Amino acid sequence: MTKVGQVFHPQYLKHDTGPLHPERADRLRAILEKLKSRSLESQLIEVPVREASEREVTWIHSEDYFKNLAKTAEKPSRYLDPDTPVSGESFEAALLATGGVLEATLRVAEGDLDTAFALVRPPGHHAEADHAMGFCLINNVAVAAEFLQKKLKYQKIAIVDFDVHHGNGTQHSFYDREDIFYASLHRYPFYPGTGSADEKGKGAGLGYTLNLPLSQGAGDEIYLKVFEQKLLPTLREYSPDFLLVSAGFDAHRQDPLGGMRVTEEGFAKMTQALQNLAQDFCGGKTLYVLEGGYDLEGLSTSVCRVLEVLLEKK
Ligand SMILES: [Zn+2]
Repeated sequence: MTKVGQVFHPQYLKHDTGPLHPERADRLRAILEKLKSRSLESQLIEVPVREASEREVTWIHSEDYFKNLAKTAEKPSRYLDPDTPVSGESFEAALLATGGVLEATLRVAEGDLDTAFALVRPPGHHAEADHAMGFCLINNVAVAAEFLQKKLKYQKIAIVDFDVHHGNGTQHSFYDREDIFYASLHRYPFYPGTGSADEKGKGAGLGYTLNLPLSQGAGDEIYLKVFEQKLLPTLREYSPDFLLVSAGFDAHRQDPLGGMRVTEEGFAKMTQALQNLAQDFCGGKTLYVLEGGYDLEGLSTSVCRVLEVLLEKK
């Protein structure tokens, strides 16, 4: 039986973004409820969560940014960028989100788990080295990629990002490197403005960033076609030894922000394709990390379908 881990911590619900913000605690509550109602919760192995250390976070982020973030702890809520509020509980939530992702990474890398899904917030892929951005505080997936490379000695890590928005922070973290491949499917032109097909990396990293921009309204057919024709062949050529997935569900057809038409079945098929690839190249070692997704029903059913694929229930 496939051993699938789940990362969650109650502190993730305490990152308070205010009453009208789309990136809200109810997102995780809806996912947990749906997992229960579909009897999936009992089949997942809980991953113990810890705080990421300053050292781990500053593999990706500047020390000044870390200090500024730390100063928000136990202070009144404020905005770090026009979209990104923090409350007094946010810093701890962010450290536990990144630390939870690192613990899951370790367990998959060591074979205690086959794969895992980190149900974390705040999300991470827009967070840049020296500033918060687009609902994101610490770039969870980028820190996990560094952890694999630095601590666990993985040589070729691939990150696939299917959130509807381009993961600017992740791209910039590894733009000049060949040991960490970043591939993104996203609506373009769209927030955050980056992610054109011409952005392919630089220096030693040239050719190790793959942007697959899609027009507004793209649905399952287009996503799966781009997977088959562009993403999967490129990843096969790269032959990664670990696959990290920035799993955002704001390309879902019901999402209020995304403007795309992907269904939960589309996300299931993309997941199956990534799992097949991982079986061929990295002994099935994958980790899915939650990014966006703002329609509670679309988000929660999509996460359940992804987990059903990971549990090999199809
Ligand atoms: Zn997004």
